[in-house]
Amino acid sequence: MSYEEIFTKSRQVYEIAKKIFPGGVNSPVRLMRHLPYPFYVKRVEGAFIETIEGVKLIDYCMAFGPLILGHKPKVVEEAVKEFLSNGWMFGIPTEIELELAKTIMRHFPSVEMIRFVNSGTEATMNAIRLARAYTGRKIIVKFDGCYHGAHDYVLVKAGSGIATWGIPTSLGVPEEAAKLTIVLPYNDVEKLEKTFQEQGDKIACVIIEPVVGNFGLILPEKDFLKKLRELCTTYGSILIFDEVITGFRLSLGGAQEYFNVKADLTTLGKIIGGGFPIGAFGGKKEIMEMITPSGQVYNAGTFNAHPISMIAGLVTIRELEKEYPYKIANKASEEIVKAVNEEISKIRINFKTKHIASMFQLYFTDREIKNADDVRMCNVDLYNRLHSECLKNGLYLTPSQYEVNFTSAAHDEEVVSKTIDILVRCLRKLETS
Ligand code: PMP
Repeated sequence: MSYEEIFTKSRQVYEIAKKIFPGGVNSPVRLMRHLPYPFYVKRVEGAFIETIEGVKLIDYCMAFGPLILGHKPKVVEEAVKEFLSNGWMFGIPTEIELELAKTIMRHFPSVEMIRFVNSGTEATMNAIRLARAYTGRKIIVKFDGCYHGAHDYVLVKAGSGIATWGIPTSLGVPEEAAKLTIVLPYNDVEKLEKTFQEQGDKIACVIIEPVVGNFGLILPEKDFLKKLRELCTTYGSILIFDEVITGFRLSLGGAQEYFNVKADLTTLGKIIGGGFPIGAFGGKKEIMEMITPSGQVYNAGTFNAHPISMIAGLVTIRELEKEYPYKIANKASEEIVKAVNEEISKIRINFKTKHIASMFQLYFTDREIKNADDVRMCNVDLYNRLHSECLKNGLYLTPSQYEVNFTSAAHDEEVVSKTIDILVRCLRKLETS
Protein backbone atom coordinates (compact mmCIF):
# COMPACT_ATOMS: atom_id res chain seq x y z
CA MET A 1 0.00 0.00 0.00
CA SER A 2 1.15 3.53 -0.66
CA TYR A 3 1.55 6.26 1.98
CA GLU A 4 -1.60 7.91 0.65
CA GLU A 5 -3.58 4.69 0.92
CA ILE A 6 -2.49 4.10 4.53
CA PHE A 7 -2.83 7.65 5.82
CA THR A 8 -6.05 8.67 4.05
CA LYS A 9 -7.75 10.72 6.74
CA SER A 10 -4.56 12.70 7.42
CA ARG A 11 -4.59 13.90 3.81
CA GLN A 12 -8.02 15.47 4.32
CA VAL A 13 -6.90 17.23 7.49
CA TYR A 14 -3.76 18.49 5.80
CA GLU A 15 -5.76 19.98 2.91
CA ILE A 16 -7.41 22.28 5.45
CA ALA A 17 -4.23 22.84 7.53
CA LYS A 18 -2.39 24.03 4.40
CA LYS A 19 -4.73 27.00 4.17
CA ILE A 20 -4.34 27.90 7.82
CA PHE A 21 -0.66 27.38 8.69
CA PRO A 22 2.35 28.22 6.50
CA GLY A 23 3.24 24.89 4.91
CA GLY A 24 0.34 23.38 6.83
CA VAL A 25 2.33 22.99 10.05
CA ASN A 26 3.58 24.86 13.10
CA SER A 27 7.21 23.73 12.92
CA PRO A 28 8.98 22.90 9.66
CA VAL A 29 10.18 19.32 10.28
CA ARG A 30 6.61 18.25 11.06
CA LEU A 31 5.98 18.45 7.33
CA MET A 32 8.30 15.65 6.28
CA ARG A 33 9.91 17.01 3.16
CA HIS A 34 9.92 13.75 1.22
CA LEU A 35 6.28 12.94 1.94
CA PRO A 36 3.21 14.62 0.47
CA TYR A 37 1.72 15.50 3.86
CA PRO A 38 2.21 14.62 7.55
CA PHE A 39 0.22 12.01 9.41
CA TYR A 40 -1.87 13.24 12.31
CA VAL A 41 -1.67 11.78 15.78
CA LYS A 42 -4.60 10.63 17.89
CA ARG A 43 -2.92 9.18 21.00
CA VAL A 44 0.39 7.85 22.26
CA GLU A 45 1.58 5.24 24.73
CA GLY A 46 5.10 4.07 25.62
CA ALA A 47 7.04 3.65 22.37
CA PHE A 48 3.94 3.88 20.19
CA ILE A 49 1.96 6.47 18.27
CA GLU A 50 -1.56 5.88 17.03
CA THR A 51 -2.56 8.03 14.08
CA ILE A 52 -6.06 9.35 13.37
CA GLU A 53 -6.47 6.43 10.95
CA GLY A 54 -5.77 4.00 13.81
CA VAL A 55 -2.33 3.08 12.39
CA LYS A 56 0.13 2.07 15.12
CA LEU A 57 3.75 3.17 14.69
CA ILE A 58 6.87 2.51 16.75
CA ASP A 59 8.31 5.92 17.40
CA TYR A 60 12.00 6.91 17.17
CA CYS A 61 11.43 10.62 16.70
CA MET A 62 9.99 10.83 20.22
CA ALA A 63 8.95 14.47 19.81
CA PHE A 64 12.58 15.36 18.98
CA GLY A 65 14.03 14.53 22.37
CA PRO A 66 12.08 15.36 25.53
CA LEU A 67 10.50 11.93 26.06
CA ILE A 68 13.30 9.83 27.54
CA LEU A 69 10.81 7.89 29.67
CA GLY A 70 8.64 7.16 26.63
CA HIS A 71 5.25 8.62 25.76
CA LYS A 72 2.88 9.35 28.63
CA PRO A 73 4.82 7.76 31.51
CA LYS A 74 2.54 7.07 34.49
CA VAL A 75 4.73 9.00 36.96
CA VAL A 76 4.45 12.19 34.95
CA GLU A 77 0.76 11.75 34.20
CA GLU A 78 -0.08 11.25 37.85
CA ALA A 79 2.09 14.08 39.18
CA VAL A 80 0.66 16.54 36.67
CA LYS A 81 -2.94 15.49 37.35
CA GLU A 82 -2.40 15.88 41.06
CA PHE A 83 -0.77 19.29 40.70
CA LEU A 84 -3.56 20.58 38.43
CA SER A 85 -5.99 20.54 41.34
CA ASN A 86 -4.00 23.45 42.85
CA GLY A 87 -4.30 25.50 39.66
CA TRP A 88 -1.82 25.75 36.81
CA MET A 89 -0.73 29.30 36.20
CA PHE A 90 0.15 31.77 38.89
CA GLY A 91 2.69 34.38 37.79
CA ILE A 92 3.90 34.03 41.37
CA PRO A 93 6.90 31.93 42.46
CA THR A 94 6.30 28.32 43.53
CA GLU A 95 8.41 26.02 45.70
CA ILE A 96 8.44 23.47 42.94
CA GLU A 97 10.70 25.67 40.76
CA LEU A 98 13.31 25.58 43.53
CA GLU A 99 13.06 21.81 43.69
CA LEU A 100 13.66 21.41 39.98
CA ALA A 101 16.50 23.96 40.01
CA LYS A 102 18.26 22.27 42.93
CA THR A 103 17.89 18.88 41.26
CA ILE A 104 19.41 20.15 38.01
CA MET A 105 22.22 21.95 39.83
CA ARG A 106 23.11 18.81 41.78
CA HIS A 107 23.78 17.03 38.50
CA PHE A 108 25.40 20.01 36.74
CA PRO A 109 28.02 21.40 39.15
CA SER A 110 28.94 24.12 36.63
CA VAL A 111 25.41 25.54 37.01
CA GLU A 112 25.65 27.68 40.16
CA MET A 113 22.55 29.73 39.30
CA ILE A 114 19.76 29.14 36.82
CA ARG A 115 16.86 30.90 35.07
CA PHE A 116 13.89 28.99 33.66
CA VAL A 117 12.43 30.08 30.33
CA ASN A 118 10.03 28.42 27.89
CA SER A 119 12.11 26.94 25.08
CA GLY A 120 15.61 26.01 24.03
CA THR A 121 15.51 28.98 21.67
CA GLU A 122 14.98 31.39 24.55
CA ALA A 123 17.69 29.67 26.57
CA THR A 124 20.41 30.10 23.92
CA MET A 125 19.27 33.62 23.02
CA ASN A 126 19.61 34.72 26.63
CA ALA A 127 22.88 32.87 27.22
CA ILE A 128 24.45 34.61 24.20
CA ARG A 129 23.17 38.03 25.29
CA LEU A 130 24.57 37.38 28.76
CA ALA A 131 27.97 36.31 27.40
CA ARG A 132 28.13 39.51 25.36
CA ALA A 133 27.23 41.63 28.34
CA TYR A 134 29.74 39.90 30.60
CA THR A 135 32.66 40.09 28.17
CA GLY A 136 31.75 43.39 26.51
CA ARG A 137 32.46 41.66 23.17
CA LYS A 138 30.24 41.09 20.15
CA ILE A 139 31.45 38.11 18.13
CA ILE A 140 30.04 34.67 18.70
CA VAL A 141 31.43 31.40 17.34
CA LYS A 142 29.20 28.49 16.40
CA PHE A 143 29.78 25.30 14.46
CA ASP A 144 28.46 24.33 11.06
CA GLY A 145 25.46 22.03 11.51
CA CYS A 146 24.75 22.88 15.14
CA TYR A 147 21.23 24.12 15.82
CA HIS A 148 20.60 26.40 18.76
CA GLY A 149 17.03 27.46 18.12
CA ALA A 150 15.33 29.98 15.86
CA HIS A 151 16.81 33.40 16.62
CA ASP A 152 18.96 35.70 14.54
CA TYR A 153 22.51 35.11 15.73
CA VAL A 154 22.35 31.32 15.46
CA LEU A 155 20.33 30.91 12.26
CA VAL A 156 23.55 30.84 10.28
CA LYS A 157 24.52 27.47 8.77
CA ALA A 158 22.33 25.72 11.31
CA GLY A 159 21.01 22.18 11.47
CA SER A 160 17.60 20.60 12.01
CA GLY A 161 14.70 21.99 9.93
CA ILE A 162 16.81 24.74 8.42
CA ALA A 163 19.14 22.07 6.98
CA THR A 164 16.30 19.79 5.91
CA TRP A 165 14.77 22.66 3.95
CA GLY A 166 18.14 23.73 2.49
CA ILE A 167 18.27 27.24 3.92
CA PRO A 168 21.88 28.37 4.60
CA THR A 169 20.93 31.47 6.58
CA SER A 170 17.35 32.48 7.29
CA LEU A 171 15.95 35.36 5.30
CA GLY A 172 15.22 38.28 7.57
CA VAL A 173 18.43 37.92 9.57
CA PRO A 174 20.19 41.28 9.03
CA GLU A 175 23.60 40.99 7.39
CA GLU A 176 24.97 43.01 10.31
CA ALA A 177 23.81 40.30 12.72
CA ALA A 178 25.04 37.38 10.59
CA LYS A 179 28.46 39.07 10.33
CA LEU A 180 28.90 38.81 14.07
CA THR A 181 28.58 35.02 13.92
CA ILE A 182 31.67 33.06 12.93
CA VAL A 183 30.84 29.55 11.74
CA LEU A 184 33.55 26.90 12.00
CA PRO A 185 33.62 23.22 10.98
CA TYR A 186 32.93 20.82 13.84
CA ASN A 187 35.92 18.78 15.09
CA ASP A 188 38.48 21.06 13.37
CA VAL A 189 40.97 22.05 16.08
CA GLU A 190 43.30 23.83 13.64
CA LYS A 191 40.65 26.26 12.37
CA LEU A 192 39.48 26.83 15.93
CA GLU A 193 42.98 27.74 17.10
CA LYS A 194 43.56 30.01 14.12
CA THR A 195 40.28 31.84 14.74
CA PHE A 196 41.19 32.45 18.37
CA GLN A 197 44.71 33.58 17.42
CA GLU A 198 43.28 36.12 14.98
CA GLN A 199 40.17 37.33 16.82
CA GLY A 200 40.21 35.80 20.32
CA ASP A 201 40.01 39.16 22.07
CA LYS A 202 36.73 39.92 20.25
CA ILE A 203 35.00 36.58 20.85
CA ALA A 204 32.27 36.86 23.48
CA CYS A 205 31.37 33.20 23.42
CA VAL A 206 31.54 29.88 21.67
CA ILE A 207 28.26 27.99 21.59
CA ILE A 208 28.34 24.31 20.79
CA GLU A 209 26.26 21.17 20.86
CA PRO A 210 28.75 18.92 22.68
CA VAL A 211 27.22 16.06 20.68
CA VAL A 212 25.50 17.27 17.52
CA GLY A 213 21.93 15.99 17.38
CA ASN A 214 20.66 18.37 14.73
CA PHE A 215 22.64 17.37 11.67
CA GLY A 216 22.18 13.67 11.99
CA LEU A 217 24.40 12.62 14.87
CA ILE A 218 27.99 13.88 14.99
CA LEU A 219 30.26 12.99 17.89
CA PRO A 220 33.11 15.14 19.15
CA GLU A 221 36.52 13.63 18.44
CA LYS A 222 38.84 12.90 21.30
CA ASP A 223 39.92 16.10 23.07
CA PHE A 224 38.00 18.47 20.74
CA LEU A 225 35.86 19.73 23.61
CA LYS A 226 38.86 19.90 25.97
CA LYS A 227 40.79 21.99 23.45
CA LEU A 228 37.78 24.27 23.06
CA ARG A 229 37.61 24.66 26.86
CA GLU A 230 41.31 25.59 26.98
CA LEU A 231 41.03 28.18 24.23
CA CYS A 232 37.97 29.84 25.80
CA THR A 233 39.78 30.04 29.13
CA THR A 234 42.95 31.44 27.55
CA TYR A 235 41.13 34.14 25.60
CA GLY A 236 38.50 34.99 28.24
CA SER A 237 35.58 33.86 26.03
CA ILE A 238 32.49 32.24 27.52
CA LEU A 239 32.01 28.58 26.66
CA ILE A 240 28.30 27.77 26.23
CA PHE A 241 27.38 24.12 26.10
CA ASP A 242 24.00 23.83 24.46
CA GLU A 243 22.72 20.75 26.26
CA VAL A 244 19.11 21.13 25.18
CA ILE A 245 19.35 17.60 23.75
CA THR A 246 22.28 16.09 25.68
CA GLY A 247 21.26 17.32 29.16
CA PHE A 248 19.95 14.32 31.11
CA ARG A 249 20.19 12.21 27.96
CA LEU A 250 23.90 11.32 27.70
CA SER A 251 23.93 10.99 31.47
CA LEU A 252 22.36 12.70 34.48
CA GLY A 253 25.09 15.34 34.23
CA GLY A 254 24.75 15.60 30.45
CA ALA A 255 27.71 15.97 28.12
CA GLN A 256 29.70 17.78 30.80
CA GLU A 257 29.71 14.69 32.97
CA TYR A 258 30.07 12.33 30.02
CA PHE A 259 33.15 14.07 28.60
CA ASN A 260 34.39 15.64 31.84
CA VAL A 261 34.46 19.19 30.48
CA LYS A 262 32.86 22.11 32.31
CA ALA A 263 31.05 24.93 30.53
CA ASP A 264 30.74 28.52 31.77
CA LEU A 265 27.10 28.65 30.73
CA THR A 266 24.79 25.76 29.98
CA THR A 267 21.51 25.77 28.11
CA LEU A 268 18.92 23.11 28.79
CA GLY A 269 15.43 22.22 27.55
CA LYS A 270 13.48 19.17 26.38
CA ILE A 271 13.94 16.46 29.08
CA ILE A 272 13.96 18.91 32.01
CA GLY A 273 10.32 19.76 31.21
CA GLY A 274 9.18 16.13 31.06
CA GLY A 275 7.31 16.78 27.80
CA PHE A 276 5.98 20.26 28.67
CA PRO A 277 7.44 23.50 27.26
CA ILE A 278 10.69 24.53 28.92
CA GLY A 279 14.15 25.99 28.54
CA ALA A 280 16.79 27.01 31.06
CA PHE A 281 20.16 28.66 31.14
CA GLY A 282 22.60 28.69 33.98
CA GLY A 283 26.22 28.80 34.96
CA LYS A 284 28.74 30.70 37.02
CA LYS A 285 27.16 32.83 39.74
CA GLU A 286 29.23 35.86 38.79
CA ILE A 287 27.86 35.76 35.24
CA MET A 288 24.28 34.79 36.09
CA GLU A 289 23.93 37.61 38.59
CA MET A 290 23.94 40.00 35.64
CA ILE A 291 20.40 38.80 34.77
CA THR A 292 17.43 40.97 35.79
CA PRO A 293 16.37 41.80 38.43
CA SER A 294 19.75 41.27 40.14
CA GLY A 295 21.57 42.70 37.10
CA GLN A 296 20.83 44.58 33.90
CA VAL A 297 20.74 41.87 31.25
CA TYR A 298 17.05 41.67 30.60
CA ASN A 299 15.12 38.44 30.72
CA ALA A 300 11.46 38.00 31.59
CA GLY A 301 8.57 35.74 30.63
CA THR A 302 4.90 35.37 31.50
CA PHE A 303 5.31 31.60 31.34
CA ASN A 304 8.83 31.32 32.81
CA ALA A 305 9.06 28.42 35.30
CA HIS A 306 5.56 27.27 34.40
CA PRO A 307 4.47 25.04 37.31
CA ILE A 308 3.32 22.14 35.13
CA SER A 309 6.66 22.02 33.30
CA MET A 310 8.41 22.21 36.67
CA ILE A 311 6.52 19.27 38.18
CA ALA A 312 6.78 17.14 35.02
CA GLY A 313 10.51 17.83 34.76
CA LEU A 314 11.11 17.08 38.40
CA VAL A 315 9.42 13.68 38.40
CA THR A 316 11.14 12.81 35.11
CA ILE A 317 14.58 13.50 36.57
CA ARG A 318 13.71 11.63 39.76
CA GLU A 319 12.83 8.63 37.63
CA LEU A 320 16.10 9.00 35.68
CA GLU A 321 18.00 9.02 38.98
CA LYS A 322 16.90 5.39 39.40
CA GLU A 323 19.16 4.64 36.39
CA TYR A 324 16.89 1.94 34.88
CA PRO A 325 15.56 4.27 32.11
CA TYR A 326 19.11 4.83 30.83
CA LYS A 327 19.83 1.10 30.84
CA ILE A 328 16.79 0.31 28.69
CA ALA A 329 17.07 3.32 26.36
CA ASN A 330 20.83 2.97 25.78
CA LYS A 331 20.57 -0.77 25.20
CA ALA A 332 17.83 -0.23 22.61
CA SER A 333 19.94 2.16 20.58
CA GLU A 334 23.00 -0.11 20.81
CA GLU A 335 21.07 -3.24 19.78
CA ILE A 336 19.41 -1.58 16.79
CA VAL A 337 22.69 -0.22 15.47
CA LYS A 338 24.41 -3.56 16.00
CA ALA A 339 21.71 -5.50 14.14
CA VAL A 340 21.64 -3.03 11.26
CA ASN A 341 25.42 -3.16 10.91
CA GLU A 342 25.38 -6.95 10.78
CA GLU A 343 22.70 -6.91 8.10
CA ILE A 344 24.32 -4.22 6.04
CA SER A 345 27.59 -6.13 5.82
CA LYS A 346 25.62 -8.68 3.76
CA ILE A 347 24.18 -6.24 1.23
CA ARG A 348 25.83 -3.92 -1.24
CA ILE A 349 25.00 -0.48 0.06
CA ASN A 350 27.49 2.01 1.47
CA PHE A 351 26.26 2.57 4.94
CA LYS A 352 27.39 3.95 8.28
CA THR A 353 25.81 4.22 11.70
CA LYS A 354 26.55 6.48 14.64
CA HIS A 355 25.25 6.09 18.13
CA ILE A 356 25.79 7.32 21.64
CA ALA A 357 23.68 6.62 24.73
CA SER A 358 20.03 6.73 23.58
CA MET A 359 20.63 8.44 20.23
CA PHE A 360 21.45 6.93 16.84
CA GLN A 361 21.43 7.77 13.17
CA LEU A 362 21.86 5.89 9.90
CA TYR A 363 23.77 7.26 6.89
CA PHE A 364 24.11 6.07 3.31
CA THR A 365 27.75 6.88 2.73
CA ASP A 366 31.26 5.41 2.79
CA ARG A 367 32.69 8.47 4.58
CA GLU A 368 33.37 8.72 8.27
CA ILE A 369 30.91 11.20 9.79
CA LYS A 370 33.00 13.87 11.51
CA ASN A 371 31.35 17.12 10.51
CA ALA A 372 28.42 18.69 8.67
CA ASP A 373 30.06 18.35 5.25
CA ASP A 374 30.32 14.59 5.72
CA VAL A 375 26.58 14.48 6.39
CA ARG A 376 25.88 16.69 3.36
CA MET A 377 27.70 14.13 1.18
CA CYS A 378 25.39 11.29 2.30
CA ASN A 379 22.74 9.90 0.01
CA VAL A 380 19.75 11.69 1.53
CA ASP A 381 17.45 10.22 -1.09
CA LEU A 382 18.17 6.71 0.20
CA TYR A 383 17.54 7.84 3.78
CA ASN A 384 14.19 9.25 2.71
CA ARG A 385 13.29 6.07 0.86
CA LEU A 386 14.16 4.01 3.92
CA HIS A 387 12.11 6.35 6.07
CA SER A 388 9.03 6.08 3.82
CA GLU A 389 9.34 2.32 3.55
CA CYS A 390 9.63 1.93 7.35
CA LEU A 391 6.64 4.19 7.90
CA LYS A 392 4.50 2.03 5.64
CA ASN A 393 5.57 -0.95 7.78
CA GLY A 394 4.80 0.54 11.18
CA LEU A 395 8.11 2.18 12.07
CA TYR A 396 8.53 5.93 12.41
CA LEU A 397 12.22 6.80 12.16
CA THR A 398 13.22 10.40 12.70
CA PRO A 399 11.81 12.25 9.67
CA SER A 400 15.03 13.68 8.25
CA GLN A 401 18.65 12.73 7.69
CA TYR A 402 19.41 15.96 9.57
CA GLU A 403 17.69 14.83 12.77
CA VAL A 404 18.51 12.02 15.16
CA ASN A 405 16.66 8.93 16.37
CA PHE A 406 15.86 8.79 20.08
CA THR A 407 15.22 5.70 22.15
CA SER A 408 13.49 5.76 25.53
CA ALA A 409 12.77 3.65 28.59
CA ALA A 410 9.71 2.37 26.70
CA HIS A 411 11.85 0.83 23.94
CA ASP A 412 12.08 -2.56 25.60
CA GLU A 413 13.32 -5.84 24.12
CA GLU A 414 10.04 -6.63 22.42
CA VAL A 415 9.87 -3.21 20.74
CA VAL A 416 13.51 -3.40 19.70
CA SER A 417 13.14 -6.85 18.21
CA LYS A 418 10.11 -5.71 16.19
CA THR A 419 12.05 -2.63 15.09
CA ILE A 420 15.03 -4.65 13.90
CA ASP A 421 12.76 -6.95 11.96
CA ILE A 422 11.09 -4.06 10.09
CA LEU A 423 14.31 -2.11 9.58
CA VAL A 424 16.18 -5.06 8.13
CA ARG A 425 13.33 -5.94 5.78
CA CYS A 426 13.15 -2.34 4.55
CA LEU A 427 16.92 -2.12 4.07
CA ARG A 428 16.88 -5.31 1.97
CA LYS A 429 14.09 -3.85 -0.10
CA LEU A 430 16.22 -0.74 -0.79
CA GLU A 431 18.97 -2.92 -2.21
CA THR A 432 16.63 -4.64 -4.62
CA SER A 433 14.63 -1.58 -5.68
N1 PMP B 1 19.34 23.78 21.04
C1 PMP B 1 19.35 22.50 20.63
C2 PMP B 1 20.60 21.70 20.75
C3 PMP B 1 18.20 21.92 20.11
O1 PMP B 1 18.21 20.66 19.69
C4 PMP B 1 17.02 22.70 20.02
C5 PMP B 1 15.73 22.15 19.45
N2 PMP B 1 15.78 20.99 18.78
C6 PMP B 1 17.07 24.02 20.48
C7 PMP B 1 18.24 24.52 20.98
C8 PMP B 1 15.84 24.87 20.42
O2 PMP B 1 14.92 24.42 21.35
P1 PMP B 1 13.36 24.76 21.20
O3 PMP B 1 12.88 24.03 19.98
O4 PMP B 1 12.76 24.29 22.49
O5 PMP B 1 13.27 26.23 21.03
